[in-house]
Amino acid sequence: MTTIKVTVWNEYRHEKTNPQVAEIYPEGIHGAIAGHLRTAGELDVSTATLDEPEHGLTDEVLDRTDVLIWWGHLAHGDVRDDIADKVRERVLQGMGLIVLHSGHGSKVFERLLGTRTGALKWRDDGERERLWVIEHGHPIVDGLGDYIDIPKEEMYGERFEIPAPDELVLISWFEGGEVFRSGCCYRRGKGKLFYFRPGHETFPVYHHPQVLQVIHNAVKWAAPTRGATVSYGRIASGSLNGGQ
Ligand code: ZN
Repeated sequence: MTTIKVTVWNEYRHEKTNPQVAEIYPEGIHGAIAGHLRTAGELDVSTATLDEPEHGLTDEVLDRTDVLIWWGHLAHGDVRDDIADKVRERVLQGMGLIVLHSGHGSKVFERLLGTRTGALKWRDDGERERLWVIEHGHPIVDGLGDYIDIPKEEMYGERFEIPAPDELVLISWFEGGEVFRSGCCYRRGKGKLFYFRPGHETFPVYHHPQVLQVIHNAVKWAAPTRGATVSYGRIASGSLNGGQ
């Protein structure tokens, strides 16, 4: 089996300005996720952050990225348009993309889903969240039971302004009564995109074993497959005769 190369991208701003977040994630959100994925042993994991040159997403980095994980919140507007365009193009060519939590407002998510804001309801009161498994045979929920419980989370509620997912794998219920499409799979071009809701920065969500399990499963699901090489444009009459 070939090793999947993963790049965990984080805007890495809350950790530098909010001591509560820094205490939960001393290595940053990207460091916590990357640290877990490294223990899985079968992945080649790197990290990249917004304030690095080219946001850490140079052509060389993207050339060695099979799956990109994206966490952003405060600074979506600081992401360069040309880099968001480049990520979109890479996904269309086959790179996997996992967009986490508030990444629903990111330029990469908007560009790939055709949404303007990924708008939704929210309430930051630390409520219980239960993510129900909808598609129990899907590889992204390998190893889970009926649901995942997260004791304290930010609430996201419908309507969530997204196109209907190709596959809806998880739905969240919150203590306050709202529901939300929390695990959404899309195909765009040759690439796969997974949106996964949990991960508000003031709660230790990326230390939760089942949340990490879903991210790990999603990396394997989103990894590129070779696929076919097709052509586009005018095709001369008779050119398909007698061959393949
Ligand atoms: Zn949040």
